[in-house]
Amino acid sequence: MTTEANDRLLRVVNPATGETLDTLPAATAGEVDTAVDQAHRVFDSGVWAARPPRERAAVLLRLAELMERDAEILARLDCEDAGKPITECRTGDVPGAIESIRWFAEAADKVFGRTAPTSHDHLGLMSREPVGAVAAVLPWNYPLAMAAWKIGPALAAGNSLLLKPAEATPRSALHVARLATEAGLPDGTLAVLPGYGAEAGRALARHPGIGALSFTGSTATGRRILADAAETNFKRVSLEMGGKSPQVLMPDALDFGVDLIDDMIAAAFLTMGQNCTAGSRILVHEDIAAQVVARFTAAAGALVIGDPAKPDTRTGPLISTAARDRVARAVDEAVAAGAVAHTAGLPAGLHPHGAYYPPTVVVGAPDGSRVLTEELFGPVVTVQTFASEQEAIRTANATPYGLAASLWTHDLDTAFRLARGIQAGVVSVNSYSEGDITAPFGGWKQSGFGGAERSTDAFAQWTREKTVWIRTR
Ligand code: NAD
Repeated sequence: MTTEANDRLLRVVNPATGETLDTLPAATAGEVDTAVDQAHRVFDSGVWAARPPRERAAVLLRLAELMERDAEILARLDCEDAGKPITECRTGDVPGAIESIRWFAEAADKVFGRTAPTSHDHLGLMSREPVGAVAAVLPWNYPLAMAAWKIGPALAAGNSLLLKPAEATPRSALHVARLATEAGLPDGTLAVLPGYGAEAGRALARHPGIGALSFTGSTATGRRILADAAETNFKRVSLEMGGKSPQVLMPDALDFGVDLIDDMIAAAFLTMGQNCTAGSRILVHEDIAAQVVARFTAAAGALVIGDPAKPDTRTGPLISTAARDRVARAVDEAVAAGAVAHTAGLPAGLHPHGAYYPPTVVVGAPDGSRVLTEELFGPVVTVQTFASEQEAIRTANATPYGLAASLWTHDLDTAFRLARGIQAGVVSVNSYSEGDITAPFGGWKQSGFGGAERSTDAFAQWTREKTVWIRTR
């Protein structure tokens, strides 16, 4: 990781250079206790939770404006901390985060309750209530965007939120917390707690005073958090976790021309493949496999690799040298077992301490290879062929994950059959897409648990329903 334990410090390291960017105190379990107490005091005071939703919306809309004002600062923080290409941050992460805060602000006064179909002498009112003190635990690959996905609905619903960014990437969330104060959010309503997962993250997961925890990160950590919640107070847990998503190309896929290759490249290599929905398994019909491999490897080889702070860079470093070495080992293993790795390699002149790994296309990996089964989280895709639709669906579903999939065909019937057959929370037809803010996003199988992000469905994570039963006379 780009941070390391040094007493109680977090060292934030630029993965493009190995240089230390900042050193921050890491939140301890004791500090989590204090922050939870403070969150409860603020919640109980009603200064935020009891404020009319329209007024909460106004504060969050002001926050969105301030994020727009500081868009370049936010883009640079994620670029430096995570090694993400600055153009991705400017055009994807930052505008997406602002949109998320704005959309949930505007939704704050549109969350309606229900009434029960009772007899005339009763009235049953079901209202959605904020949970109280709630927590979010974040990954490092989309630091600002994931913070915004949680902050928007959690605060719009009236909760007090404790947010733990990933060890490597705390600075954009800390900046947003400062902007929230400037926007008029009452003190203690949003606390950002940079800290280690094993200490601050675990303290949140086990805290009896936290009513709901929304997590985005690896499946292994999600499993731990769910167990911690079960062993303590059964807090409401939502988990957005890893993936091993397929890109399925039917025999007519090449008709999509450059759109196909551009989207396949984005699916495979956005954020250097360190993307939960990365289309890391290309499943291609055998009739077009040779052509697809040739065109895709040529496009992958043309990606500009370099300093993520430069606008034309498409491929920066991985999050750490340890991550790079792990990815390299998995590819080396597959090659030793008979696979072929197509790559243009790294250009000369990269920073010697940068955690770079070149975009790589692995063809012919034997069944069971780690490159086919594990979420590698790097710029590596595998290519597998199929002869029939049924075989494509079987291969697409042959992992424990079920986050996303994309499929390419002009034939509507085929597209529907594949979309229905593939076990994933989001299936994109003739594009690589995660949908947008209006549609729920969440994984199936071991990719997701307990609730969706985005859309009004996200409020289910951050509210609970109360039934008020009134006898009328
Ligand atoms: P990670 O699981 O290592 O860490 C995620 C967060 O959990 C960090 O803040 C970490 O400090 C914390 N943590 C670690 N141990 C903990 C514990 N015992 N209790 C509580 N918190 C703990 O994941 P990562 O490496 O930061 O992120 C990469 C993973 O995130 C990938 O698997 C990726 O697929 C996934 N991801 C999923 C989505 C999605 O929406 N499905 C989005 C982005 C990333």
